[in-house]
Amino acid sequence: MIDFSVPASVTALAEEIRQFVTEEIIPFETDPRLTAHGPSDELRQELVELARKRGLLTFQAPTRHGGREPSHVDQAVLYEAAGWSTLGPVALNCAAPDEGNMFLLNKIANDEQSAKFLEPVIAGHQRSVFAMTEPGGAGSDPGQLKTTATFDGTTYTINGTKWLITGATGAQVWIIMADVQENDHGPSGATLFLCEGDTPGISIDRVMSTMDRNYVEGHGVVTFTDLRLPASSLLGEVGSAFRYAQLRLAPARLTHCMRWLGAAARAQSIAVEYAQTRTAFGKPIGEHQGVGFMLADNEIALQQCRLAIWWACWTLDQGQRGRHESSMVKALVSEELFKVADRCVQVLGGIGISDETPIGMIFSDIRGFRLYDGPTEVHKYAIARQILRTERQRS
Ligand SMILES: Cc1cc2nc3c(=O)[nH]c(=O)nc-3n(C[C@H](O)[C@H](O)[C@H](O)COP(=O)(O)OP(=O)(O)OC[C@H]3O[C@@H](n4cnc5c(N)ncnc54)[C@H](O)[C@@H]3O)c2cc1C
Repeated sequence: MIDFSVPASVTALAEEIRQFVTEEIIPFETDPRLTAHGPSDELRQELVELARKRGLLTFQAPTRHGGREPSHVDQAVLYEAAGWSTLGPVALNCAAPDEGNMFLLNKIANDEQSAKFLEPVIAGHQRSVFAMTEPGGAGSDPGQLKTTATFDGTTYTINGTKWLITGATGAQVWIIMADVQENDHGPSGATLFLCEGDTPGISIDRVMSTMDRNYVEGHGVVTFTDLRLPASSLLGEVGSAFRYAQLRLAPARLTHCMRWLGAAARAQSIAVEYAQTRTAFGKPIGEHQGVGFMLADNEIALQQCRLAIWWACWTLDQGQRGRHESSMVKALVSEELFKVADRCVQVLGGIGISDETPIGMIFSDIRGFRLYDGPTEVHKYAIARQILRTERQRS
């Protein structure tokens, strides 16, 4: 039976996180180091130190790595609190892509790789990237992977171009997806590699100009030119990249939902305050039905999204893969929260699109969420296939 009563310890931690974000992190939302390409790494480091002082840094890490290892449902409550500011997850070290990468490394990195690559990220000293998407290659369909890795028996040589690689500039921990070509020495197929960001052969060509600015150092275009890696750089088994990526995707897409839920709830709280204090045609605008309905639609959507996230988390906590459930929830939440943010802009009138409040930034930042970790249409495509498969098995 589903029981969504939140343990007192989780409520207390969520309150602590919310207070930390409100008191210590929100003031940085107007810091010039929050640039068009996201927070600079210098700003990130300063925020991380604040969270460290409060004993809240990387709270989601496994206990064996010094974290609190909350269940997925508990994470839903905690990440929502962290997301109250888009800088909250950056400070707490539970932002993408590091959070998903830590999850993946914790599952498949060997002890040596964990010590070298995972622990510095958990400690907030280094950042990580996940390099999959390619111009004209891997994207909605990762099977179109074009980056190649040739193997001569001792060394893999990687060549290819990636784009939209979040946080590439300055990241020291790189997870790279490449297609190991058929060879005489071992297996082939889509594979994950793990290496340092300053390995010769990795070049960051440029940082893309994008609508969002909540991800540290923005999104890079990256070229791999004869990037030579030893066999010890394999992350898991050759040919298993898609399986591992799926392992990361279900929980990672849910944590995106949780963080954005926090940000959308903040936008709603600002819109509600504005609707109570701003007057037009003789009364507060919130008392005009057109505005009241927008606030009501937001409240309904926020609670619907919250419960949907908790439900998908609950399936993961039961030991299920939650692939279908997380797909449904990601499609629902990304679409609904975007509408919430849009209605908040509308309630605020002209200042809604400005930087006078965080609503403008939340609106433009949340847009990308309908695309990454699977565009809505791709989730619907997967859900439809699952429905048809189940129906076929029944008949
Ligand atoms: C803010 C942001 C951060 C990102 N960070 C990273 C990162 O760190 N690392 C990384 O590797 N990638 C990253 N990405 C890339 C992201 O994973 C891709 O954008 C996503 O997988 C979609 O691939 P694509 O952009 O190539 O779109 P395409 O594959 O070109 O798809 C375009 C559109 O086609 C439609 N479509 C595709 N397939 C179907 C289908 N089966 N049915 C119906 N419609 C369909 C969808 O509407 C889709 O939006 C990021 C993207 C964004 C926006």
